[in-house]
Amino acid sequence: MITLPGIEGQSYAVLGLGKSGLSVAASLRASKAKPVLWDDNPTARAEAEKADFAVVDLATANPKDFQALVLSPGIPHTHPAPHSAVVKFRAAGVPIIGDIELLFRASPQATFVGITGTNGKSTTTALIGHILKSARRKLQVGGNLGTPALSLEPLGADGIYVLELSSYQLELIQQNLLKVAVLLNITPDHIDRHGGMEGYIAAKARIFETNTPQTLVIGTDEPETRALVLQARQKKNLHIEEISVQHPVAHGVMVAGQQMFSYTGEEEGGLITNLGTLPTLPGKHNWQNACAAFAACRALDVPTKQIVQGLKTFPGLAHRQQLVAEIEGVRFINDSKATNADATGKALACYDNIYWIIGGQAKEGGLKGLEEFGPRIRHAFIIGEASENFASWCQANHLAHTLCGTLDIAVQKAAATAWKDKKPGAVVLLSPACASWDQFSNFEERGRMFTKFVETLSSVPQAKVLP
Ligand code: ADP
Repeated sequence: MITLPGIEGQSYAVLGLGKSGLSVAASLRASKAKPVLWDDNPTARAEAEKADFAVVDLATANPKDFQALVLSPGIPHTHPAPHSAVVKFRAAGVPIIGDIELLFRASPQATFVGITGTNGKSTTTALIGHILKSARRKLQVGGNLGTPALSLEPLGADGIYVLELSSYQLELIQQNLLKVAVLLNITPDHIDRHGGMEGYIAAKARIFETNTPQTLVIGTDEPETRALVLQARQKKNLHIEEISVQHPVAHGVMVAGQQMFSYTGEEEGGLITNLGTLPTLPGKHNWQNACAAFAACRALDVPTKQIVQGLKTFPGLAHRQQLVAEIEGVRFINDSKATNADATGKALACYDNIYWIIGGQAKEGGLKGLEEFGPRIRHAFIIGEASENFASWCQANHLAHTLCGTLDIAVQKAAATAWKDKKPGAVVLLSPACASWDQFSNFEERGRMFTKFVETLSSVPQAKVLP
């Protein structure tokens, strides 16, 4: 756990008692400060009381009694409407901060790497963590991914914190100490929380709002991020590395065909590696993540050879195009994290002869935009609430499909059909393009159940289940 020096006896208000809020409270208590907690959910308050924390309705407290309000990133502080406690603390001029700000204050001597973007944050964070670990650097990985910032282990001046940062977390940083900032991409998402696309872009741009020297690794495949590069170029303290999987870059890391090239202005040729051979990073979207990880690790002086080795040995993240088994020539892929058509499209683009498990709680737009992948799909196996809707979509697109109801049946039918067809490179792909909440508690549970059902299949002779 991280503790903060010099705050003994000071009072801090903590609003929102999820994983990160509770870790803030624990860290403040361990620092001998006085955390005062609140959550609108009575169950969360009861948990905090059970852990012996002071629980007070912050909307009725006197803000002047506190050094700062530490806000959970999940609680709105601007749009669609700020929480009533936030309104009160802001009016009283009390700083409103988040746990990342506290981590910066606790360890200003450490090296910080921050990763944001609409998509690919977790993959890129884990990948950078893996490469640095392979290069035997002392590091901790967390933030929006896995362990909350203040539950990470303390590191000395030679330590590196690799932090996944959401736009909400970025908005709650006061003094940005990121030595390497990665902004992968920006597409419309969470717009309501930022009062529109402009607000969302401004929140993401906070990753390079700093007065200290920083390497900014920025994807330039959308007009929004290209506009941000122009803005970033105005700042003297930034060293910019551009990333693209679509067009050449003069200074940065790019993809041509399947090859990754890096241009620092010094080397000739710049060929780094063949991305097509990376087992756990399939598809152009993952190549964007690989390019960003390459540039970030190079900014931390990791030799090229070691970075490439790390790219090749990355174990991948669960539920994101995760190869869980190969049985009688058919690969079984868990892409449960694909909760909308956009994410599912990324996976469909990577394979041919797909036996596709879809369904759950449909998002707005359903499967719209996936029509172009029809020729790659052999058969769709449909589950959950969206069944009727998705069956009509399949029919309209002349796609063979079967209504399966539940995931166990879908896995069995998809496997049986794929084994019977014997198509080369066949995959059974769970990439549902839906939220999981109609049948599962979250996408992780859905992915775990898929893996379990596939393992049951592997009682078939010659099965080869991957670790
Ligand atoms: P995040 O943490 O930003 O949600 P993840 O790394 O968990 O991102 O990936 C979630 C999904 O987003 C993946 O399953 C994939 O479909 C898609 N994805 C991953 N990387 C990218 C990228 N660079 N660009 C676009 N989509 C991506």
